[in-house]
Amino acid sequence: MTASKKELPDDIYIPFVETLFRDGFTLAIGITAQMALITLAWAKTGNVAFLAVVLVLLIVGLLRVGSMRKFAKLPAITTRAEARRHENRYIFYGAMHGAALGTFCLVAIYTAQDGFAEIAAVCISLATATGIAGRNYGSPRMVIILIITLTCPMSLGFILRGDFYHVLLGLLSAPFLLAIHRYADTVRDVLFTALSAEKRANRIAGRFNRALNTMSHGLVMLGPNGKVVVANAEAAHLMLLKSPDALLGRSVRSLLKRGVAGGLLSPKDCRYVEGQLTRALHEGRDRKVLVSLTNGQHYEFSARAGNQELGVITFEDVTQRVEAEEKIRSMARYDNLTGLPNRAYFHEIVGECMASGDRERLCALAVLDLDDFKSVNDTLGHPVGDGLIYAAAERLGNLVNEDVKVSRFGGDEFMIFFNRVEDESHLAGMLDAIFAILQGDVDVAGHVLRLQASGGAVLSRVRDSDADAMIVKADLAMYKAKELGKNGWRLFESAMDAAFRDKQLLKADLRSAVEAKRLRVVFQPIVAIETMRIASCEALCRWDHPELGAISPAIFIPLAEEMGIISEISTFMLHAACGECAKWPSPIGVSVNLSAKDFRRRDVVDKVRDALAHSGLAPWRLEIEVTETALLDDKSQTRQYIEEIKQLGVRIALDDFGTGYSSLSYLHKLPLDKVKIDRSFLMDVTQNSHSLHLLKGIVNLSRPLGLAVTVEGVETYEQLKILSLEVKPDLVQGFLFGSALSASGIETMSNTVWPFAEEMRVAKR
Ligand code: C2E
Ligand code: CA
Ligand code: CA
Repeated sequence: MTASKKELPDDIYIPFVETLFRDGFTLAIGITAQMALITLAWAKTGNVAFLAVVLVLLIVGLLRVGSMRKFAKLPAITTRAEARRHENRYIFYGAMHGAALGTFCLVAIYTAQDGFAEIAAVCISLATATGIAGRNYGSPRMVIILIITLTCPMSLGFILRGDFYHVLLGLLSAPFLLAIHRYADTVRDVLFTALSAEKRANRIAGRFNRALNTMSHGLVMLGPNGKVVVANAEAAHLMLLKSPDALLGRSVRSLLKRGVAGGLLSPKDCRYVEGQLTRALHEGRDRKVLVSLTNGQHYEFSARAGNQELGVITFEDVTQRVEAEEKIRSMARYDNLTGLPNRAYFHEIVGECMASGDRERLCALAVLDLDDFKSVNDTLGHPVGDGLIYAAAERLGNLVNEDVKVSRFGGDEFMIFFNRVEDESHLAGMLDAIFAILQGDVDVAGHVLRLQASGGAVLSRVRDSDADAMIVKADLAMYKAKELGKNGWRLFESAMDAAFRDKQLLKADLRSAVEAKRLRVVFQPIVAIETMRIASCEALCRWDHPELGAISPAIFIPLAEEMGIISEISTFMLHAACGECAKWPSPIGVSVNLSAKDFRRRDVVDKVRDALAHSGLAPWRLEIEVTETALLDDKSQTRQYIEEIKQLGVRIALDDFGTGYSSLSYLHKLPLDKVKIDRSFLMDVTQNSHSLHLLKGIVNLSRPLGLAVTVEGVETYEQLKILSLEVKPDLVQGFLFGSALSASGIETMSNTVWPFAEEMRVAKR
């Protein structure tokens, strides 16, 4: 596009109009010279028309120069219409000016016919015409009007002279006029192109500036000499400078020094940041440096080596991000409830403590576990349990110092690390003091609870141990303390370690024995006291360890419960017992012991049903023995499952009665068929009348509740006699009738009538 052909865009048209009003001074000089020359012509010729032209020029000159001066004082033109008004006024005065000069030329050449006047006229025409393009390129209309008003009268004057030479002269001015016109166009085009390019550049620069200054990052660009060549508003803001220009020409060092002077940056950090950034720029690598300011803000500086040796440094306020990260780190390190270091972080702390200082010194680690915490949680709810833990944490937290570290290890377990211990008695003193501080009543949400704990500790030379090993040992000692009656602490002894290792080995062996079905079932007869015949048998589990021999179920059953594999054993026992019993003559039945843990699982009912279906055993011949702990477990659906098992036609016996706390009236509400009185009641029954009374009482209370009674642990004839004559239970079980036998042994004995029967009858009489 060229300026001449099409309508100009506003942002170019307006500056073009402005150029028209630019040079009032040369215009004034020009008009003055024109008036002087015309005055001279008047003096030479005495033609009054010349005087009139001078007068008109004076008026026009004053108007034009006046309007230019007025224009200079006006605010900048903003609209096209405004510019158009100014241009029109300019054209109006310019046209008057041109017409006055043209009139002079016509009169001088045609009317006056004076040599001097002619020369003056040509001089004025030429001098003015040459200036047309230079002054008026901004307005194409003005150029044309001036050309016409100025030079046409001159040409006309020559042509009117009529002779060949003058007519030719008059006509020859036409190309000259065209040349001036073109010249003005060319000037305008050149300027238009320059102006357009400048506008475009300005537009780009404007956008760039805007982008740069609305960035949330601070940015400085460094020239090859390491001095700032570009900076944005955010950079100025951070450097506490008014405008980005104030950063120009400064070095990175001088900018960072401002931070030091303002107290935001320590001199050490300043040197570090400068070193990192300049190295990154030199090596042409990108690098990020995090800087923490003394006011708590965090900035991340990124150096990016650009091309043409321009380096860019951006910086960003990352305070929120850093704070969030710190929060997360602290959440990952500290226990939410107590604010104490958690397991992972404590591990780290202990590791650090043990890695530094004298490796020959003694250190110690103690584990504390709140006593009976589970029952607080179960009976009063978790919020109260949490309150108790919080109270314990508060008391323990007060112990923390440079050499004592405390952690909540999860649940109701706490760990204490003693970084420096003189000897065993020093440790004992500290632990006693801790127990004294910890113990006592606490009020949690209106409940007065007793805070009490058991602890285990291990003393070790730093060089000889590590955190993991110490934790394992302290744990073992703590279990020992619990075993020995709680509310105290024990120091680890190597015997505990051996016991622990043995237990681990035994567990592994048990697992493989269960998997390989290497367990056995034996049956102990249960005898009806009236007939002295086998009424049923109790299935008991046996494990013959390849090296250790027979292991008591009193040992491996709790182990299996701990390992979570008891349900496999129960399944095995149910199937084996039902299968064998089905081969025995009816009505001999079988009892199977189920663990409290079995009733934590929904599938317990299906298991019983499957075993019956699989063996074809009549349900009434199967009895399930459960303990009180299973019945009292509030967390499970135990009672419902027992009810469902009973619905199958299977009978339920309460095992080990008397060792728990239940009263008989409470048991009445449970779906039971039988109670098995624990053998501890029978032990001294022959010597102790109190025990006898108790036994009699239990039997007398059970009968009206519809419960059958078995007395376990009958070992002597004496015991049997007392039972038969005074207690009168329904069934008896014990070594007197034989210990557990194989299934076939039971089959053989199924018709046995024990010889005591006759003696009993005699005694009764
Ligand atoms: P329990 O259910 O009370 O079983 C009776 C235990 O008393 C058996 O011990 C039996 O051998 C023993 N016993 C029988 N008569 C006498 C006696 O006259 N005097 C003495 N001192 N003891 C007698 P065992 O077989 O060692 O079983 C111990 C415990 O192991 C059982 O006590 C039972 O709680 C558990 N248990 C055994 N087998 C299983 C099983 O298959 N599943 C489950 N869950 N527990 C089982
Ligand atoms: Ca039993
Ligand atoms: Ca028992």
